[in-house]
Amino acid sequence: QAGIDLHGLTKTFRTPNGPVRAVRGIDVAIAPGETVALLGPNGAGKSTTIDMLLGLARPDAGSVSLFGGTPEDAVAAGRVGAMLQTGSLLRDLNVRELIAMMASLYPDPLDVDEVVELTGLGALVGQRTQKLSGGETQRVRFAVALVSNPDLLVLDEPTVAMDVEGRHAFWQTMRGFASRGKTIVFATHYLEEADDFADRAVLMAHGRVVADGPTTEIKARV
Ligand code: ADP
Ligand code: ADP
Repeated sequence: QAGIDLHGLTKTFRTPNGPVRAVRGIDVAIAPGETVALLGPNGAGKSTTIDMLLGLARPDAGSVSLFGGTPEDAVAAGRVGAMLQTGSLLRDLNVRELIAMMASLYPDPLDVDEVVELTGLGALVGQRTQKLSGGETQRVRFAVALVSNPDLLVLDEPTVAMDVEGRHAFWQTMRGFASRGKTIVFATHYLEEADDFADRAVLMAHGRVVADGPTTEIKARV
């Protein structure tokens, strides 16, 4: 069964100060149902790798295969849910309207009320998106990532604006998804999140994978 295959992925950004070699030849294969943490310091290339994985950035060299096809096809089919660091929510919709609108884009979405329940948004369904706090916005973005009922969840620093309780609730929800066989890839700065949640960690530095293995082993190298 095909999962995620990153092969020779490479990306250089042209900047006024010269080229920035953000990702320099990455090979990672992830099997369906695996939970993988992407670790590494700021600037290591984690977000750029995630963008290429999702088809949001075009590699200069190398390839991405998701479930045996292109990222674009997998995303269009609703097989991939993403929660990125950037990107704002559509304004002038309430939380329920936004989730319902996103659900309508996909062939086989989850029930909107189920997603509201899973993400603890019950009390906020009537709230306009622009009125939400940082932690609440993160939860809505999580709901949007889930609503297509994806096989793969890709999360870039998902808990960054959440308080301790919110983080705890978030990972509880994620555990439910992992136990249903979803594939999960997340970038994090919090070593304890990787340790608690991921079987496997991929450590990046300077655009390269410098270690890849069981989280308990990688942890010792960070
Ligand atoms: P990480 O997610 O690990 O912090 P990034 O993938 O965001 O790393 O960044 C890797 C490198 O690429 C950094 O040096 C960053 O400044 C640079 N970079 C990322 N995006 C761009 C961009 N759009 N234009 C120019 N440089 C970029
Ligand atoms: P804020 O930072 O805006 O106060 P948080 O996201 O940190 O918001 O969480 C506020 C409350 O919502 C927390 O007490 C937490 O119990 C609950 N919560 C957050 N995320 C979830 C979730 N995924 N599932 C259920 N409840 C959640």
